[in-house]
Amino acid sequence: MNAGVYLDHCATSPLRPEARAAMAAAFDVTGNPSSVHASGRAARARLEEARARVAILAGASPASVTFTSGGTEANVLAIRSAVAAGARRLLISAIEHDCVREAALASGVETVEVPVRPEGIIDLGALEALLDAPSAAGGPVFLALMAANNETGVIQPTREAAERVRAAGGWLHVDAVQAAGRTPVELDVLGADSLALSAHKLGGPQGIGALVAGPRTRIFRDMPGGGQEQGRRAGTQNLIGAAGFGAAVEAALASPRPGPGARDVAAAAFADAGALVVGATAPRLDDVLCIATPDLPSEIQVMGLDLAGVQVSAGAACSSGKVRPSRVLEAMGLGDLAGCAIRLSGGWSTRSEDWRIAVETWIDLKTRRQSRRHPAAA
Ligand code: PLP
Repeated sequence: MNAGVYLDHCATSPLRPEARAAMAAAFDVTGNPSSVHASGRAARARLEEARARVAILAGASPASVTFTSGGTEANVLAIRSAVAAGARRLLISAIEHDCVREAALASGVETVEVPVRPEGIIDLGALEALLDAPSAAGGPVFLALMAANNETGVIQPTREAAERVRAAGGWLHVDAVQAAGRTPVELDVLGADSLALSAHKLGGPQGIGALVAGPRTRIFRDMPGGGQEQGRRAGTQNLIGAAGFGAAVEAALASPRPGPGARDVAAAAFADAGALVVGATAPRLDDVLCIATPDLPSEIQVMGLDLAGVQVSAGAACSSGKVRPSRVLEAMGLGDLAGCAIRLSGGWSTRSEDWRIAVETWIDLKTRRQSRRHPAAA
């Protein structure tokens, strides 16, 4: 067994040392950011410093950043805001995270899924057709399209989608939870009107994220209570979390990105050994890899690798514990293979060595399983 390989950054990334240090320092700040006395002002200053860092990541003004409890709340708040703004039909891509899908389905307004093509990219033709056929219920157009998918790493053409949504006078919400820290996620670059971010996917703490809302959007006051976050989200802010989030963002923006080299070498080795690389022909995040292998169920791979010290995940692992066939891979037309997929995802602490160990361990697992199933052939 090796010393331990963690290739599950898409589930959560290890805490960056910069985030840990900023949080440790914030523990010593006593004040409530809403208090007017000196301690309160000191707390407020730290909160605003963190907000300014998140704003730089999103290419937005600090005033457009609303801290939330994470990516889930940011997405839910965007959808509720769209409904509050009068949207009577929500368009969401077929590969959105469960939090987007569930929030849309629970919103009480018509929800239509925009299909993806087999390589995992939204079908822009289908989007156009939906935009041309206005909802019987009327109201402004809303589309939720993630920047990059959490299971395949496939990058979505948000700018192209934005052109179409803008032409219809609509609102494009982009879930940038996985893309942030890996690719540029400024509102302008993505063509987004609003953006969901989560600290723990880029080396910050769990339990904090942000909804960034550009000038064309209005955030609905979802949480009753005090006037925090400009009245958009009541409740005393999570100062320690925000400090860690801001520091992680700053560190992510300052770190060179390693490029896809190590992932691509691993992908080629997996493919040589009989795996299908999901979304291989699509632009993907550099350090995310989804493979599907006939007759090798996801849970066998995840558990076998774990026993050998390599941690990866299957399907939408962030709903946790359970390994179930992936809705995203089914939407890409993988059929039964959707139950045979695993995701390997690196991040700021990953060494290229980790990818090599993962490949070797997986080939060993596959060979052992094959020889148990077909002893004569071994
Ligand atoms: N959106 C995407 C694409 C995700 O991958 C996740 C978590 O895996 C979320 C949203 C939810 O983020 P959080 O865990 O911060 O609530």
